[in-house]
Amino acid sequence: MLINIKNSQQEISFTDAVKKGMGENKGLFIPPHLSAFNNLQYLLEMPFIQRSSHILQHLIGQEIPPDQINQMVEKAFNFNPVIKQVSQDIFCLELFHGPTLAFKDFGARFMAQCLSMINSDREITILTATSGDTGAAVAHAFYGLKNINAVILYPKGKVTPLQEKLFCTLGGNIHTFAVDGDFDDCQHMVKACFHDLEINHKLHLSSANSINIARLYAQICYYFEACAALQHNQLVISVPSGNFGNLTAGLMAKKLGAPVKKLIAATNINDTVPRFISEGQWQPKPTRKTASNAMDVSIPNNWPRIMYLLDNDHKKLQHIIQPGVKADHETYAAMKTMHKLGYTSEPHGAVAFACLQQHLNKHEIGVFLGTAHPAKFKPTVDSVLDISIPLPKELEAVKNKPILSIEMTKDIGELKQYLLQ
Ligand SMILES: *Cc1c(COP(=O)(O)O)cnc(C)c1O
Repeated sequence: MLINIKNSQQEISFTDAVKKGMGENKGLFIPPHLSAFNNLQYLLEMPFIQRSSHILQHLIGQEIPPDQINQMVEKAFNFNPVIKQVSQDIFCLELFHGPTLAFKDFGARFMAQCLSMINSDREITILTATSGDTGAAVAHAFYGLKNINAVILYPKGKVTPLQEKLFCTLGGNIHTFAVDGDFDDCQHMVKACFHDLEINHKLHLSSANSINIARLYAQICYYFEACAALQHNQLVISVPSGNFGNLTAGLMAKKLGAPVKKLIAATNINDTVPRFISEGQWQPKPTRKTASNAMDVSIPNNWPRIMYLLDNDHKKLQHIIQPGVKADHETYAAMKTMHKLGYTSEPHGAVAFACLQQHLNKHEIGVFLGTAHPAKFKPTVDSVLDISIPLPKELEAVKNKPILSIEMTKDIGELKQYLLQ
């Protein structure tokens, strides 16, 4: 059972929350209570898939039979998180070994399995706008699923060429539209479709929203993997953050009993949250472009969940989550430091690594989340480290494939015509 943060009277089942995405008044769904596992050591000794099923069964409850959850997990997590040692006391939890080489594969794939399971017999259409990583993860997650079409809008020329190859070459039930406009135009078009009765009625629209609870639940699983791999009671986990879904999952893992001492909210100069933690004032500034562009967010949409989980208690927040901010020059320096240690990273992970170096005390072990494969940021990585990073097989396989996207103006009429034909 979940509640709406904006109205705790609105109780909702997990499956309804997955379908709806968001509650009344744009309130986010959250479990009102999280009880810690009492068989923690036993849990930590399980292999990743089995442990993840167990965690998700605990969170979802009776609503979905355990063996069904198990099947969904097996299909969603067809790749593993990998722990790599970077220095004597710092490790990277690599989350980028999925089909689109970013941690978003975990959440998107589990959400797709949930929606597919819920809507087994009628045809639905997932409609979403993307500026990059999310679109790729969503496209691959829904690719080939029965009775589901995915329609993905993105701003033409504003995603990197490799990024575009990753999600616009699939075909089948994945339909991509390159819109002559920016990300906001795409989002506006998506909203207009959801408000259009004809489209809604005919296509059974559903969103693959970034605040969907299924994504969050899936992400809790890999925090336990870090604890299982390192078995240390002084673990500090640094999370490169944008919308703070990842950190929310980390906090939930801690509440479920994962032996994590502290979390670090690591951001680039879009530092609304670190300033809030230090000073207690919520003062978003205009968003600025940085090298870690997936973290260029100044009003993070998951923050209300974090405050809810901490009982809106600022002291508790300061006790559990440490703030960290790195500018691009510090991020590049961190990439170079890691490279000298024999580890190649990219800007998002490097922000989190740099924050760990700053905060880690004696006797503590630090883990930062590797949220994307360094080859996804090849131009930056190559120029900062003066190397030529090879493309992994996932990118090599698509780099010469034709883009299948349909180009269109930001005119909603044109999109509507395509959708209804
Ligand atoms: C989305 C993303 C992030 C930020 O994650 P949030 O959950 O939004 O805080 C960090 N790194 C990469 C590579 C991402 O794609």
